[in-house]
Amino acid sequence: MTSYSAPVRDFQFLLQNVFNAQETLYTLPGFEEVDQDMAKMVLEEGAKVCEEVLHPINGSGDQQGCLFDDGMVTTPDGFIEAYQTFTEAGWSSLSLPREYGGQGLPETLNFAMEEMTWSANAAFILCSVLTRGVVNLLQAYASDELKEQYLENLVSGTWTGTMCLTESHSGTDLGLVRTRAVPQDDGSFALSGTKIFITGGDHDLTENIIHLVLARLPDAPQGVRGISLFLVPRNLPDAQGNWQQDNGVNCGSIEHKMGIKGSSTCVMNFDGATGYLVGELNQGLPQMFKLMNLARLSIGLQGLGIAEVAYQNAVTYARERLQTRSLSGIKNPDGPADPIIVHADVRRMLLTTRAYVEGCRAMSIWTGMQLDTAHVHPDADVRQEANDLIELITPVFKAFCTDMGYETATLCQQIFGGHGYIQETGMEQFVRDVRIAQIYEGTNGVQALDLVRRKLFIYEGRLPETLFKRIDQFIMQQGADDKREFVAPVAEALQRLRELTQWLLEVSKQNPDELGAASVDYLRVFALTTLAWFWAQMACVAKSGEENSFNTAKLSTARFFFGRLLPQIDGLDRGIRSGAQHLMELDESFF
Ligand SMILES: Cc1cc2nc3c(=O)[nH]c(=O)nc-3n(C[C@H](O)[C@H](O)[C@H](O)COP(=O)(O)OP(=O)(O)OC[C@H]3O[C@@H](n4cnc5c(N)ncnc54)[C@H](O)[C@@H]3O)c2cc1C
Repeated sequence: MTSYSAPVRDFQFLLQNVFNAQETLYTLPGFEEVDQDMAKMVLEEGAKVCEEVLHPINGSGDQQGCLFDDGMVTTPDGFIEAYQTFTEAGWSSLSLPREYGGQGLPETLNFAMEEMTWSANAAFILCSVLTRGVVNLLQAYASDELKEQYLENLVSGTWTGTMCLTESHSGTDLGLVRTRAVPQDDGSFALSGTKIFITGGDHDLTENIIHLVLARLPDAPQGVRGISLFLVPRNLPDAQGNWQQDNGVNCGSIEHKMGIKGSSTCVMNFDGATGYLVGELNQGLPQMFKLMNLARLSIGLQGLGIAEVAYQNAVTYARERLQTRSLSGIKNPDGPADPIIVHADVRRMLLTTRAYVEGCRAMSIWTGMQLDTAHVHPDADVRQEANDLIELITPVFKAFCTDMGYETATLCQQIFGGHGYIQETGMEQFVRDVRIAQIYEGTNGVQALDLVRRKLFIYEGRLPETLFKRIDQFIMQQGADDKREFVAPVAEALQRLRELTQWLLEVSKQNPDELGAASVDYLRVFALTTLAWFWAQMACVAKSGEENSFNTAKLSTARFFFGRLLPQIDGLDRGIRSGAQHLMELDESFF
């Protein structure tokens, strides 16, 4: 089966050498007790849990899957014990507020931890990821009474949380939600309706589950402006204050699906269940989007985490598997054939994965640092700038990391040849487990639309310009000739992206379909250009550092990225500029 070894060294390289967390992150208010040593210790201890507790039950969890019997969901063997170990040690509350029992550490460290957990066991970690989002949402919008009643148990992991948006006729278009919430005399609401595809809707990990449900009042306006958000616990407290009273929330069935089989995906029925309004009436969607933004970043980490573990296993295999001789002469004279890692095409697949993984990891740590800056930096202008960058990068991070996660997990499976297609090696599980990340939390197509329709335009184009200026600054600061090989392609890519953005804004004034037609390819150009910036930063640091295998590998991988991957933007640019017409001219009846 598969193995996993957490990339702690790479996290440290990014935190210490590339982004200088000692001065830019650990000095922020609330993080003063964090320093490099403590961060290292957190990452090393987190790595152990992922390697020794979560990964060993990844394959068995997939094979066994969740079971549904008599209205109850059972998780795979070992999940309950692992959940206890994970939550009792505080891993699920690493960056959650101290006020409610969390550890209040930087989100940046939590991002690193989350990547490791996705690598180790994607199905296992989903419940905790969603619970974290529920905590953030309640903290932002719930009444003090609800916070007091619910937050502590959610933060500690004693209870888990869900996000109940989707209905059979309402997925991307949440304005179609039909679940009803009828006001009651005591100020609560009675919720009725059926939600589908609810992750962790039912399970046996905790005694209570807290659902956040989108629903509409009987007299609410039609569409997205009539949707409110409600907290609906599975169990209510009885007269003695024990949370055991049935609240009319039932799991109707679970889905049989392609991957993440150890995570329950539930049909949830609400039969007059008691719910409590969270935030303002009819403001459910904007509020929910706050949760979804964080959840979207987490799903990007799913893509990254699974790509990393697939890569590690592919490297091991490529070193061991002996097939045919190298084109440039025998490399393994004592064996019957050379290890496949000598073949250029196998190296192409490995390096593609590695270059994307390490680039996306840099984007992840940088994004985590923007989140921390946006939350706690004392200067309001700095907070605003960090918020702008997060708004902009969220759809790019979610879509690009998950697309690359799927593409590279498939490349790593390919390295195993036929053995990658059979269950025993575990490689096909990675492909199945990562596939959903391109679909949920808003499909990647919808992320691309968010980028081109909203993020490029709002605040008169301030968001992209904020990022572009950051990249400009970096380019100007790197004067040394020996770094030109990494900096010059970033300047070129940025110029191209600026021109493409301008072109898109112009043509879409005449024909709005141009936005939809360009969106997915434009997002990729945007992501590759941003990744080039991160790769250049890493390469410049590695070049100035001591000569060792880590820095040598960084420089080689950077050269691969700039030579082989970044040039994709040339073809994408040309394709985008061919316009919407090629997509829209074929009459629907001819499909
Ligand atoms: C395993 C799993 C777990 C899930 N967990 C949860 C959960 O916990 N809570 C929850 O509420 N939901 C959950 N979901 C639901 C998930 O978020 C939705 O499936 C997803 O948002 C897409 O909605 P849909 O399936 O209805 O597809 P649709 O909205 O019907 O979309 C179908 C296709 O049309 C495209 N499309 C739609 N509109 C446009 C447009 N305007 N322009 C271009 N293309 C468009 C989409 O990109 C997609 O390719 C889960 C789903 C799965 C499979």
